[in-house]
Amino acid sequence: MKTQYQVRIADINLVGGGTVKVATIEQSGRKVPGCEGCSAPCCQDFLRPFLTLDEFLSKKFHFALLPPPDWLREQAPQIQYVAVLEFKDGCCRYFDRISHKCTIFPDCPKACLAYDCREDPRPRVKEFVRERMEEMKMVWVKDTCWVKLDEPKRCRSISGSPKIHCPNMANFGFPRSNGIWAYCEEHMYGRRVRDGIVEIKVHPDSPAAKRGYA
Ligand code: SF4
Ligand code: SF4
Ligand SMILES: [Zn+2]
Repeated sequence: MKTQYQVRIADINLVGGGTVKVATIEQSGRKVPGCEGCSAPCCQDFLRPFLTLDEFLSKKFHFALLPPPDWLREQAPQIQYVAVLEFKDGCCRYFDRISHKCTIFPDCPKACLAYDCREDPRPRVKEFVRERMEEMKMVWVKDTCWVKLDEPKRCRSISGSPKIHCPNMANFGFPRSNGIWAYCEEHMYGRRVRDGIVEIKVHPDSPAAKRGYA
């Protein structure tokens, strides 16, 4: 069975005269697909949120007009454009690439609130969801290799092009033959700090999970 979307069409006057038919799509309510802690590829790639008629006409969001996708053209052949949230370089302009969070949540378009990656049939999204489900089962345990430093030290992470030395101070590190290698909380290779303890995610069936530390 094909999904039918509630399409609403606006006749938009062009500056030079004439009108174009722009499609908008109404949305169902918010779904909660377990987004906490997700790096949100939806906002950077998977999703191109359609605007509702109200969102489009109110000019509340930066938008773009795109040619309609085939499935929409089949449903409403008279449509010339579809109103979508504007993405720049494949990423939503309201997305903060450092915190990996939406800067306008929960006042984002209804399509963002209604999106559930678990229902997205595209193979690459299915693959992402499968990996994320596995990751969500993982548990945090203490990482006994990492120690608290007596005094904060400069984080030793170097990245980017040109290469930049991380400016943050680090409170934790792990011993190496030439001393302790210190990294700030952004550069602990997926670890986190809770109550002054460095934790790492492990598989729930692993010996480390059973022991409670790695
Ligand atoms: S909808 Fe899916 S991909 Fe997007 S943030 Fe939530 S869990 Fe991550
Ligand atoms: S508005 Fe927010 S939730 Fe919607 S795509 Fe952009 S960053 Fe993601
Ligand atoms: Zn750092």
